[in-house]
Amino acid sequence: MKTPEPIKRFADVFAELPGVGPRQALRIALYAVHRGRGFTEELMGAIAGLRSIKICRQCFNLHENQGELCEICADPSREQGIVAIVEKETDLLSMEKTGKFRGRYLVFGDMRKAGVLTSEQKIKLRILEEWIKNLPSGKAGEIVLALNPNPVGDVISSIVAEELRPFAERITRLGRGIPAGGEIEFADEETLGEAISRRN
Ligand SMILES: [Zn+2]
Repeated sequence: MKTPEPIKRFADVFAELPGVGPRQALRIALYAVHRGRGFTEELMGAIAGLRSIKICRQCFNLHENQGELCEICADPSREQGIVAIVEKETDLLSMEKTGKFRGRYLVFGDMRKAGVLTSEQKIKLRILEEWIKNLPSGKAGEIVLALNPNPVGDVISSIVAEELRPFAERITRLGRGIPAGGEIEFADEETLGEAISRRN
């Protein structure tokens, strides 16, 4: 028997998701069919909802605002000259939860194990540099490298620090509250808050 076309199409798309292979994608398709129409409708709605999510053109954080900027970039009460570079949105959310950081962010994207910047990351740095040049002072007061304290994070942090040195008064890293090899995303609020306060 041939796989029905709609199932094949679904499986082809879902197999592209991180952590899902072709076999699992096929299983998900079959599962959804067996769950019945109510479930497939709900699945459709959930996927359609993602279309309203936009990526901030300044920091690459996700948002649902009318404009092109996320809430943080659009908020004039945030300190403009302080920028934290985080790997992913979940790190940004963890830092926001501590309430200890009042600057803005750059969501840098997954770090390559080889310790090199992707072309997308290079573009993001250029965009940040352009943005910094337009500040009244023409320089950021502080750039906080809030990348995970592991060997890859350390290498990427040095590369980024080197790139951004001409654009910042000072470049700091999160304080050593987070254990080496640990992840910002999973640090408890108090530890991360402490690491933010003690950045150096
Ligand atoms: Zn933003």
